[in-house]
Amino acid sequence: MRLSRYFLPVLKEAPSDAQIVSHQLMLRAGMIRQEAAGIYAWLPLGLRVLNKVEQIVREEMDRAGAVELLMPTLQLADLWRESGRYDAYGPEMLRITDRHERELLYGPTNEEMVTEIFRASVRSYKDLPKNLYHVQWKFRDERRPRFGVMRGREFLMKDAYSFDLDAEGARKSYNRMFVAYLNLYARMGLKAVPMRADTGPIGGDLSHEFIVLAETGESAVFCHKDLVEMDPPGADVDWYGDLQPLVDQRTALYAATEEMHDEAAFDAIPEGDRLSARGIEVGHIFSFGTKYSEPMKAYVMGPDGKETPAQMGSYGVGVSRLLGAIIEASHDEGGIIWPESVAPFHVGIVNMRQGDAACDAACDSAYKALQAAGVDVLYDDTDARGGAKFATMDLIGLPWQLIVGPKGVAEGVVELKNRKTGERVSEPLDAVLARLT
Ligand code: ATP
Ligand code: MG
Ligand code: MG
Ligand code: MG
Repeated sequence: MRLSRYFLPVLKEAPSDAQIVSHQLMLRAGMIRQEAAGIYAWLPLGLRVLNKVEQIVREEMDRAGAVELLMPTLQLADLWRESGRYDAYGPEMLRITDRHERELLYGPTNEEMVTEIFRASVRSYKDLPKNLYHVQWKFRDERRPRFGVMRGREFLMKDAYSFDLDAEGARKSYNRMFVAYLNLYARMGLKAVPMRADTGPIGGDLSHEFIVLAETGESAVFCHKDLVEMDPPGADVDWYGDLQPLVDQRTALYAATEEMHDEAAFDAIPEGDRLSARGIEVGHIFSFGTKYSEPMKAYVMGPDGKETPAQMGSYGVGVSRLLGAIIEASHDEGGIIWPESVAPFHVGIVNMRQGDAACDAACDSAYKALQAAGVDVLYDDTDARGGAKFATMDLIGLPWQLIVGPKGVAEGVVELKNRKTGERVSEPLDAVLARLT
């Protein structure tokens, strides 16, 4: 992409109502634009990152055996009356009436709808386990939308729903998601810690929030510090084998959010290993048995010929919130530092003297070579000054900057800068291209 043809409305200063660094940087880097409180347009650069994050989530879901579908944003109120949640949900639900006076709502979550889809066709234990997921826009009329995409009203969520015959199967489904989550956050360069979370009125111990530690996080969290540095299990696990040891290894160590915090248990950890911090909830997994399948009559036939309500779980990832979390975890004074896996472009070419024949030729050939090699490249071919170009490149945080100036070109070299470390090397263009491809 040539910057002269792109749409990258960067800002010198962040609007004063942006309180936290990720919100400020997303606005300054021209990634998002607020259209109403908590409702954002995703500008081209922001959309690129959103798509990459979404794709990582998708790949890890698929790997763990979940199956993608797409449910609509609008749902019938009557569906939610079946579970009793239509009245219970409260003012976070956006309620809509169509021209025929039919009551609809903009989905804040999809347990009812997926249960309806499931019960329409699945009858037998032979079809289980099933895990259906989608990545879809949700709407919650948050009382205080704030921090940009961190707490939006319209936001993108991955939500998966598992169906099993019995509690043992449900536990296995839960474990698959638990392990998949560890992997997916790690692929985005995040350290997300699974923490015991409130299961609400249903009870049971099967709920974990995945928390990224950050000073600006909205939740107070407490955990054993070894959990933060623990490596993810990796893709190579036996998904339908016994994942319990991988889960136990983590849940054996203390980790809880404020609502679940047990001061005595926390104090039992050696002082040097205690971590009391703030965190961002980037995911939440939950096993809730027959809460929806029972009232909604999603029954399956067991091997004994008896019909029982399916055992269910739900598993959410805050896809759009993750962009904020990644930036909170990875930035400096100059701007964003994207992990390579989610970067909007892999490399930015900075032409220090646009219009200089030698510089233009070197940039053009680098641009063509990178494109031919399938590398995402943003070529700053505008006639802005070198200093302004550097500032923009640092701000938008591409992992690599390929800098082409008249002096270097005369000597047969270009410069390659690593955004994260700041390291620079001067080398002939071919050598630099070899590093990047
Ligand atoms: P929170 O405690 O932050 O309000 P939640 O517990 O209500 O979140 P869940 O119902 O668990 O949210 O939804 C799954 C995931 O969706 C959350 O873990 C979070 O990452 C994301 N999410 C929830 N609400 C929002 C929001 N308003 N804006 C962006 N992401 C959100
Ligand atoms: Mg909430
Ligand atoms: Mg929460
Ligand atoms: Mg939650």
